[in-house]
Amino acid sequence: MPQTSRQKPIEVPVPGARQGSRPVIAVANRLPVQRGDDGWELSPGGLVTALRPVMETHPGAWVGWDGGTKGMPATLPGSDVRLQPIALSAAQSRDYYRGFANATMWPLLHNAIEKPRFERAWWRAYQEVNGLFAERALAALADYPDAVAWVHDYHLTLVPRLIRARRPGQPIGFFLHVPWPSPDIYARLPWREQVLTGLLGADVIAFHTDDYRFNFLRSVARQLEDSGVEVRGSSVLLPDGREVVTATAPISIDAADLAATALDPEVKAGVRALEEQFSGRTLLLGVDRLDYTKGIIERLLAVEMLLERNPALRTSLAFLQIAVPSRDEVREYRQLRGTVEQHVGRINGLFTEPGNDVPVHYLYRGLSPRQLSAYYAFADALLVTPLIDGMNLVCKEYVTVQAAHGGSGALILSEFTGAAVELSQAVLCNPFDVEGLSYRIEHALSLEPGTRRKNLAAMAEHVRAHDVHHWVSGQLSLIAAHGAAAAD
Ligand code: UDP
Repeated sequence: MPQTSRQKPIEVPVPGARQGSRPVIAVANRLPVQRGDDGWELSPGGLVTALRPVMETHPGAWVGWDGGTKGMPATLPGSDVRLQPIALSAAQSRDYYRGFANATMWPLLHNAIEKPRFERAWWRAYQEVNGLFAERALAALADYPDAVAWVHDYHLTLVPRLIRARRPGQPIGFFLHVPWPSPDIYARLPWREQVLTGLLGADVIAFHTDDYRFNFLRSVARQLEDSGVEVRGSSVLLPDGREVVTATAPISIDAADLAATALDPEVKAGVRALEEQFSGRTLLLGVDRLDYTKGIIERLLAVEMLLERNPALRTSLAFLQIAVPSRDEVREYRQLRGTVEQHVGRINGLFTEPGNDVPVHYLYRGLSPRQLSAYYAFADALLVTPLIDGMNLVCKEYVTVQAAHGGSGALILSEFTGAAVELSQAVLCNPFDVEGLSYRIEHALSLEPGTRRKNLAAMAEHVRAHDVHHWVSGQLSLIAAHGAAAAD
């Protein structure tokens, strides 16, 4: 078994043009549309941005939960891609989505950083809803018999096997957008064999990093070797002779598009407004969904230590945290919000100098991509300090926008993110060591602007060369190639 040390990801081979204009059936938890001011529009997000050009040239369909919204359009706005909405009952959305997906699988796969909850009723709902997704994907595949099926993420681990059972020669890919934990942690799941055999219905199972992939292979070896399943190198050989390949393919952003919009007038106006608001102060920025994996509390405590040690910073430095509301129907998320807000209040209570602005600014809301770009362009440093994060796209966006503006911002990046494997010029940090983190922030701010600019340019160039289009075409080619080989 290979070592699990941090290393550069293996480049995924892109086998020629085999993917052709083959249709794609994407299967993901949510459909990528939302109701905007002017009707239905694409929801923001890397996957839809990446898949849209592919799906405009390749016919196909997108299968996903409608999230309870009615009257969805038949096709993805601006394209011929068919939407296949799945409606869930209130009990299914409670037990499958809030329960099994968000309170069992999410914490389990994030190294059990919060304790995963195991409820048999949730597992039953997860099986039932995965069955609904598979049925809908099979119906779409009947319309597009030569399509590639591409299943996404921890909500749908049973779908590949369910599709395989009914269409044995179907090329199927699965991409996991979150980490895979060590086999010891994974083994806590009461349904560990079923989830693994569900995934192994795919031809290709892909991860952001080699570490996650190796953890998965070790989990397969540990849980399934008594059933005649064999791990050989990066492949898994099944008792029926089928071979499942694993791949490392870090997801990315549409860097060219972001760099272009970062220079538009709305963003520039936003930067000017921030210059006025924070004139003469150094701005540290944090941008996260309000999730317990993101290390927001540790970050606030590190900023507190910084202000405690350096009284001059209480008026010359500001820390602004954007916290996007997330999963507030789940208990742990509501508690986290309360704790974050207590810390913000406490730190401002301690360190606001009379007559001056507060040191910690806190926005509990999501911003539009253009509003966010203005913050990225203006901030002197971005603090990305998750305790664990499958990838983290915010840091890729920051270096791209900073570079587009010719900035010299510093990126302070947790070594426990998938992005840390790629963005090695960042100031890496261990967010579990709060005091150490406060010194890493000081170190980042003390770097020469020339050094910061050079590091930033190198990271932005890496993101540009490994953008989301590169990721999508690599994945689709790989699935088509291995699916075809398996069917031969
Ligand atoms: N984001 C946004 N508005 C905000 C904050 C974040 O649109 O106010 C977007 C951000 O641009 C990024 C995504 O949310 O594309 C967050 O992705 P990431 O991989 O960093 O974290 P995740 O939320 O998927 O765990």
